[in-house]
Amino acid sequence: MNHSLKPWNTFGIQRNASHIVRADTAQQLLDAWTSATASQQPVLILGEGSNVLFLEDFAGTVIVNRIMGIDIRETDESWHLHVGAGENWHHLVQFTLEKGMAGLENLALIPGCAGSSPIQNIGAYGIELKHVCEYVDCIELETGKASRLTAEECQFGYRDSIFKHEYQDRFAIVAVGLRLAKRWQPILTYGDLTRLDPKTVTPKQVFDAVCHMRMTKLPDPKVNGNAGSFFKNPVITRETAEILLAAWPNAPHYPQENGSVKLAAGWLIDQCQLKGTVKGGAAVHRQQALVLINENAATSDDVVQLAHHVRQCVGEKFNVWLEPEVRFIGRTGEVSAVETIA
Ligand code: NAP
Repeated sequence: MNHSLKPWNTFGIQRNASHIVRADTAQQLLDAWTSATASQQPVLILGEGSNVLFLEDFAGTVIVNRIMGIDIRETDESWHLHVGAGENWHHLVQFTLEKGMAGLENLALIPGCAGSSPIQNIGAYGIELKHVCEYVDCIELETGKASRLTAEECQFGYRDSIFKHEYQDRFAIVAVGLRLAKRWQPILTYGDLTRLDPKTVTPKQVFDAVCHMRMTKLPDPKVNGNAGSFFKNPVITRETAEILLAAWPNAPHYPQENGSVKLAAGWLIDQCQLKGTVKGGAAVHRQQALVLINENAATSDDVVQLAHHVRQCVGEKFNVWLEPEVRFIGRTGEVSAVETIA
């Protein structure tokens, strides 16, 4: 168990795995999975490790999915992209804009691979993957059978999809199909984007504004390891929201289509004065309270203790109990992140 996972998780946590295998094709991925399971080893398939926390050494094989390639097909209304799961997401966003294909600009600078994007239905600044996803191609690991799920079959929800449930562990994503409409409609509902003029704005200007916002607020994983937003924004019932808003009228809140209300986890954490709080080598980011960072050779225990502290403070003050968005990986596979920090 002496293969370091440090280069394979953006948190930069030092843990080891028994084996790390890079797969450039679906067949290589299947072969690696088959040989690991034949020797009773647990398997973890990873993209760029931008949404994981390794709690322990992983007693098995980590398969790094590097299936590459971008194919473009054009119809009168749209561009259709078939993107290998191992393509870097931000490079894909840049690539499409350089080719004059708009639609992904709000999703600039999201760390990770294209193949990981459907798993938690990545989203930022008013766009989610589900708005542009046409299909997801998978292989069933046990049988090697290829299948294509339509966007509807992926059951996308808020940071959620079928790949976190029925399809978890049994299927590997090998490609993602995206449809970008030629008739572009800018989404300018968030932050600095609201200052842009929808009549004259270009996709590149939206891209630049998103990159600027992200670069000023979010830590660069190359400087301070992190896994983006550590917690999900809590979604609560309207009745609970009314009680909370009576006490905290300034709390940012966003009514959802189904009648529930989304709160901003970063605001809740900030109200507890937790920015800059440190546990061991882990800290709450000073510019954006929703992000926990590896400030000084943090261990996963430091991160868990810090996350527990944050959850406890927010829960005691607001009676809202935060849940991690980051996925926790134990010795043989994923474990419950909520139970780990409760
Ligand atoms: P922000 O603008 O400070 O807003 C805080 C939260 O309020 C956001 O998370 C967002 O929820 C919600 N919000 C803000 N304006 C909204 C609007 N007009 N309509 C509906 N909801 C609104 O957020 P931020 O932290 O700088 O992040 C900006 C965007 O990047 C967000 O969409 C965020 O999700 C995304 N982001 C994601 C990650 C990640 O690791 N998953 C990391 C950084 C940023 P939503 O999150 O539901 O959009």
